[in-house]
This record gives sequence, structure tokens and C-alpha cells, in this order.
Amino acid sequence: MTKHLLLLPGDGIGPEVMAEVERLIAWFNVHGGTKFETDRDVVGGASYDKHGTPVTEAAMKKALEADAVLFGAVGGPKYASAPYDKRPEAALLRLRKDLGLFANLRPALCFDALKESSTLKPEIVAGLDIMIVRELTGGVYFGEPRGITNLPNGERRGVDTQVYDTHEIHRIARVAFELARLRKGKVASAEKHNVMTSGLLWKEEVTKLHAAEYKDVELTHILADNCAMQLVRNPKQFDVIVTDNLFGDILSDEAAQLTGSIGMLPSASLGARDSNGKQRALYEPIHGSAPDIAGQDKANPIAAILSFAMCLRYSFAMKKEADLVERAVSGVLDQGIRTGDIMQPGKRQVGTKDMGSAVLAALDTIQR
Ligand code: NAD
Repeated sequence: MTKHLLLLPGDGIGPEVMAEVERLIAWFNVHGGTKFETDRDVVGGASYDKHGTPVTEAAMKKALEADAVLFGAVGGPKYASAPYDKRPEAALLRLRKDLGLFANLRPALCFDALKESSTLKPEIVAGLDIMIVRELTGGVYFGEPRGITNLPNGERRGVDTQVYDTHEIHRIARVAFELARLRKGKVASAEKHNVMTSGLLWKEEVTKLHAAEYKDVELTHILADNCAMQLVRNPKQFDVIVTDNLFGDILSDEAAQLTGSIGMLPSASLGARDSNGKQRALYEPIHGSAPDIAGQDKANPIAAILSFAMCLRYSFAMKKEADLVERAVSGVLDQGIRTGDIMQPGKRQVGTKDMGSAVLAALDTIQR
């Protein structure tokens, strides 16, 4: 039972947080039943520096062959003037496209020890556990026609096209319904059917799929603007929220903010299952390369660590091990151990490596 992982640490704090994930993988290789084999490659600015491209064909091949990809972060001021198609972020877009990663899972989970860090009142966020499922490869970010044209009257026109076909709506809604079955059994589908025909189609198709296959899950429809409002008014009313690429981009960032620091937030991007049951997947913290703190042992590795927990849960169905990692993180926070981004008065501030060590120590304690 060997699982093959491709590690793409990237730039800035990417390699620093990935190093802590590697220690975690080593821990599981000693203490768990499943063995992990890792391969690694450069990506983003690091790849541009070495190979003149943000991701090489060799790295893409490894990503396509791996059981799962663990990604750090890419980008930085050094690459601000790189050609558009060579910018570090292009690597992520290529990976998402070639691996067919159409479902982006963004949990917003509030650890009890951090409920005071949210900008919302503690009682609004305490115990918060929602999952935003964002469609990642369609909609207005990819629809044609798009572009800027010159008009005869001397003005310019910018066009983007929001477009969704039935199969794209069904496959993302299916991910949301399946997840809800493993959680509290509720899906809220967010769109703007009142003003957008693609939103109307979205609502009708989600309703059809629900009636045909997922009647056991509670489905509600919510307008995306109301969803944005409800997320700050009463976020705990939600379990799984499913939405399109554009609204998902905004709603997932809003939900992320409810829980405090960006250094705590993991994500998963999943593709379709092939005929052998293999599902391509990429796991990454939602934060960027944080050039302002890179190389200083200041980055919070928890988002990357929790991304690995998502990998255990969703790629390898290792629920017990995923729960173990999340309990270890929770335990470390309960002990008052904090990186600078989540520091609170009276707590003990540590760096990236010591936070990684604290999580490993907590795993040892729970395991005993
Ligand atoms: P960022 O997420 O890198 O940083 C925003 C702020 O949060 C910074 O103050 C940073 O120090 C802090 N921060 C981020 N992660 C942290 C962590 N783990 N621990 C402690 N503090 C943390 O966003 P940005 O500054 O807008 O972008 C920096 C670079 O990263 C840019 O080049 C951007 O394009 C890129 N970026 C990459 C990704 C990705 O690889 N998926 C995502 C977002 C931004």
C-alpha cells in the first residue's frame, strides 16, 4: 500500500511550510500502515529561474502520474516583470487544467482556541465548520468570447462570457452532495438565477440532480449576494455551499476570513474519477508565497499541514489519520503555541520549525 506523492514546494515560504509537511509524511511512514513515497520538483518562480518556464513538461508528467500533488505557493516580486505566460501563477493554472481539477474544496473551520482572532464575535464563529465547493475550470474566467476590442466610436469594449453546460453543473453538484453525506447532510447552492440565465440553468440542473439521486441530502437555493451576507450574519447555518467559479472565488475568501489567519487555511482541488477509480488531486494552502516573511522561519505551516490532512481524507480515504492530524493541530493551539500571524497576548510565539515540531509531538502524545 504505497502512495506516491509529488511535492511542489514553489517559492517564498512554500519550501518552508512544505518542509514541515515532509516531517509529517515521515512520521506517518514510521507510525502508519500506509507508506508514502515522495518525489519533488521545482515550480513557479523556482522553475522559471532554473528552466525558463513556470512548470516543465517533466514536472507535469510527474503530476499526472502521482496519486496526489502537494503544492506550496508560487510567486514573488522578483517575477513581476516576467512575460505573462511565464509568470509563476501560470504553473498553477496549467496544473489545474491538465489534471482536470474542476472542484475546489475550501473548508472554513474555526478552531476553538482561535475564536477570539476572528473579526466576528466569538459566539458567531465558535464551532464553525463549513465547506465551500467552488467550480474551478468553467464559468466567466474561461468562457468565450472574451477580450478587449476597439469600437468604431473610439471607445474600447471588454467582454467576458459566463457559460456553463449541464455536465459541468452536475459534476460539481455531485461533489457537494457526496461531501454533505459525509458531513451534516446539507447543501446550499448559490447562484443569481434572478438576473443570470446561467444561474437559472444552474438552479434547475442542481434541483434535477438532487431529485434524481440525492433526496437524502437537504438542498436549499440561495442567491449569491444573500449568501455573502448570511456568511457574516450567521455562518453556522451552512454545511456545504456549492457555487460557480466567480461567486466561489469571492465567497470562499469571505468564509476564510471568518476563521482568522490565512496561515490556517487548507484547500483541495479534485478532478473526475477515471475508470480505475483514480482521482487526480492537488492540495495546497490558500496563502501565497508571503515574500515579506520568506526565509525568516516565521511562516505558519498549519495551512500546509491541514492540506496534507485533506489529502489523507479525500485522496486516500484515511479518515482516522486525517482526524489525527486535525486533533494534533487543535491540541497545539489549545496549549497556547502560536506562530506570529495568530499570536495572542499570553501565548507562546514560535517559528515555522517549532510549530511543525509541536504538531509532531502532539501526534506522538495522541498516539500513545
Ligand atoms: P500572501 O498570501 O502571500 O500574503 C498575504 C499576507 O499574509 C502577508 O502579510 C503574509 O506575510 C501573510 N501570510 C501568508 N501566508 C502566511 C503564513 N503561512 N504564515 C504567516 N503569515 C502568512 O499574498 P500576497 O502577499 O498577496 O502574494 C504574495 C505572492 O504570492 C504574489 O506573488 C502572489 O501572486 C502569490 N500568490 C500565490 C498563491 C498560490 O501560490 N496559490 C496564492 C496567492 C498569492
